[in-house]
Amino acid sequence: MTRTFYDFHTHNPEPVSGVVKMVNIEPGAPSPKHDGIFYSSGVHPWRTAAAFNPALLQEMLPRLTAIGETGLDRLRGAPLPEQIKIFEQHLKYQMPLIIHNVRCTAEILHRLPNPVRTLWHRAPTKPSTLQQIIAAGSTVSFGQNELRHLDPTIVPLNRLGLETDDFDIPIDKVYQDAAELWRIPIDQLTRQLQINFTNLYLSTL
Ligand SMILES: [Zn+2]
Repeated sequence: MTRTFYDFHTHNPEPVSGVVKMVNIEPGAPSPKHDGIFYSSGVHPWRTAAAFNPALLQEMLPRLTAIGETGLDRLRGAPLPEQIKIFEQHLKYQMPLIIHNVRCTAEILHRLPNPVRTLWHRAPTKPSTLQQIIAAGSTVSFGQNELRHLDPTIVPLNRLGLETDDFDIPIDKVYQDAAELWRIPIDQLTRQLQINFTNLYLSTL
């Protein structure tokens, strides 16, 4: 049996056999059709200080499955009130969200829609913060680095995503590490994450 690995957030647009990807592209970037490739786009918090034409994002919406990265970053980008304005514009599309968060968990949480279809990419591993995010109904996604610092008992498997982000490692290595951490067979993990990917990105509420 061949396995399919689901990469919940990546910046690498290359199709890979056996991998289904949510590829993050810049607003206005090309989004060629490929089996196993879905696209997300938005104004990354780091780029909120630059001028942005919302029409660029608006016109590519039919080709997008999710909005993001969007969110708030206390250390980089425009001053926080500016970032909040842009984040709130992104919420209006009522699509699944891919959240970038640096030290703004509370500010993001109380703005999220309900019901929520949100992936916190490279989610915080601090237990109290992680618990709040999961309690709010979000899915939390981790790469290899975060898995090293994570207490797996906090994360229910039906709320887990795995990702490569902008790291040059194969997604199956991240799955291997996660399977060891949760102490489950890799086939159980791939089956569960297929369900999670579908519920998060492909189902309609
Ligand atoms: Zn990213």
